Amino acid sequence: MTQKMLSEAEGYDILRKYDIPVPEYRIVKNGEDAALAAEKMGCPVVMKIMSLQIVHKSDAGGVIVGIGSRKAALGAFTKIIDSAKAYNPEADIDGVIVEQQAEPGLELIIGGRTDPAFGKVITFGMGGTMVELMKDVTLRILPVTDEEIRQMIHEINAYPLIAGYRGSKPRDEETLVQIIKNVCRFFEENDQIVEFDINPLRLYESGACAVDARVIISDSVVTSEKKVRIPVPMEYFTPRSIAVIGASQDSTKMGYAVMHNLLHFPGQLYPVNNKRSEIQGLKAYHTITEIQAPVDLAVITVPAIQVPSVVEECGAKGVPMVIIITAGFKEMGEQGKALEDRVVEIAKGHGTRIIGPNCLGIIVPPRGIDTTYVHQSPKPGNIAFISQSGAIINTVVDWSLAKNIGFSNVISVGNQSDLDFLDYLRYVEKDPKTKAIIMYIEQINDGRTFMEVVSEVAKTKPVIAIKSGSSRRGQAASASHTGSLSGSYDVYMEAFRKSGVIAVHTLTGAFLAAQMLAHPKRYPRGKRAVVITNAGGFAVLSSDYAERYGIELIDLPAEVVDELNEFLPDFWNKGNPIDLLGDATEKRFEKTFEVLAKHPDIWDMAFIVGFPNLVLTSEQLAKRILHFSERTENRLIATLLGGDSMNVGREMLKEHSIPSFDELDFTYRVMGRVLWQKFRVKAPGLL
Ligand code: ADP
Ligand code: MG
Repeated sequence: MTQKMLSEAEGYDILRKYDIPVPEYRIVKNGEDAALAAEKMGCPVVMKIMSLQIVHKSDAGGVIVGIGSRKAALGAFTKIIDSAKAYNPEADIDGVIVEQQAEPGLELIIGGRTDPAFGKVITFGMGGTMVELMKDVTLRILPVTDEEIRQMIHEINAYPLIAGYRGSKPRDEETLVQIIKNVCRFFEENDQIVEFDINPLRLYESGACAVDARVIISDSVVTSEKKVRIPVPMEYFTPRSIAVIGASQDSTKMGYAVMHNLLHFPGQLYPVNNKRSEIQGLKAYHTITEIQAPVDLAVITVPAIQVPSVVEECGAKGVPMVIIITAGFKEMGEQGKALEDRVVEIAKGHGTRIIGPNCLGIIVPPRGIDTTYVHQSPKPGNIAFISQSGAIINTVVDWSLAKNIGFSNVISVGNQSDLDFLDYLRYVEKDPKTKAIIMYIEQINDGRTFMEVVSEVAKTKPVIAIKSGSSRRGQAASASHTGSLSGSYDVYMEAFRKSGVIAVHTLTGAFLAAQMLAHPKRYPRGKRAVVITNAGGFAVLSSDYAERYGIELIDLPAEVVDELNEFLPDFWNKGNPIDLLGDATEKRFEKTFEVLAKHPDIWDMAFIVGFPNLVLTSEQLAKRILHFSERTENRLIATLLGGDSMNVGREMLKEHSIPSFDELDFTYRVMGRVLWQKFRVKAPGLL
């Protein structure tokens, strides 16, 4: 596949076809012709170098604006050619473009590129020669609706410059919407275009003009073929009998650890070892075919080279699914890839499904299944964790024990030779024990199908994702263009948001979000909040955090203030956050909650912040919160601050899926992230 850049003139010609205004131009090869062209077009004109090797023309001294005469055009020609030659002596120079000078206007950028996972992506933002410096851009995955185009325009930081800022007149937003729409159509209809940018597009009070166009095309169009998907029946994840092939008595071997973690499995467990007849107290079989009863799942830990024959035996035995823990496949390069392909072929021949290879397998705590070699099995709970990294599973499981977090499923996807993220998502979607899903993702191959599936799953269960690879390092920034403005990580973030996935940056954040969203009420209806606290200091901090994370604290209507006045001390703050003061008792909280429950339409969520003191136990506060939660459809979020003295209350709330975070900032930050997904609030809150 070879790529080539079109000249600015060719770019203009295509844009014009899509009703995007561009300046009139002529291409010249000498100074005389330049002078003639300037005269014909009418000064002032702009002259620019034409060379496929010079991407940033200004950097090469290849752009001269404000050329006001024939004579100036003559001089400009020589100057441009000389500068370009000095900048890059190797560059092939195709001439100079002489174009009409557009009126000054607000300089914007519209760009596009083809993302390897998610396909065509469009970017929009502040343009001009300082775009890399400003980095004020936003992106969408095509196709986009008019509404999304408007959102893009509204969400850049510089939007006030479009809407009209400090006395300057508003600019032509309608034309801008239409131009972005046309650009999207241009990108969608031309599959050979791999990347382009229009920088700048000048936007006026009326109309606009594109004064630079860089389009990169490819001579071959790569269309990735879609993987044929065969659904995995639910019961494959609920085996009644498990065989461990490569089970071992030697505690330094993988086959030992896997057996060890499966000893608690309440179904049938069959160790298979070609040398021994007893392993960890159980009768062992030399091959899987020796087992007389059916085997629902085989866990394979033998060396890579033996895996094909073992899978063949499993297939012959009619084992519906195997987990290949063994590494040394695709991740090891060409040879490993060939071995993996062979294994996949063999399994396919028998209709046997594969988890892995190069994975830890699965942990289903509610069913006593643990095919991994984690140090200690996690507790049952309602979170499903699907991970592309085995090390992260080990860490998270260990950490969950200390944090008292339980799982419905822990799945290590490995090389995804057969079952992949999408199969696991479909499974946990149907699994009744799962109330929230966390994914650790390194890379997704078929981004479009991923978006389709995850969007459906996210409708019924919250999905949270941590994506690694946000750093620019290693993401080879291509020489110019929009590509370096928004890396592939940003595309993932947009894909997540569009599909209803909450993106987070830390494991702690992922679990906090999962805990918050595992509640049956899940999302608040909107972003309007009230805060009820007995701690003045935290009332102020609440206002700070809410503002920072895009949560709107409402003004209390006079009617509500009047009702609160009935029983609150005269000197209460009469505002939101509602400060019930340090001596607030259970009764005072209860009455306040009653008032709020009577006015459910003015708020969407209530943050209740309590601190340890002698007039109110954590248990009393938790009881009142639970009672309040029963009386309202709106979301309640509790933060019982302090140390162990608040534990009783925290546990009571947790039992009813109302998590209490340790740190007030986390509470607002998590909700801010949820709102980012739902309402696109602009919050810097990394979680
Ligand atoms: P570069 O390759 O450096 O991006 P451009 O073609 O964008 O070169 O030109 C650099 C700057 O010159 C633009 O950002 C714009 O401000 C100005 N410019 C270029 N062409 C015109 C034009 N036809 N009319 C007015 N200004 C122009
Ligand atoms: Mg430019």
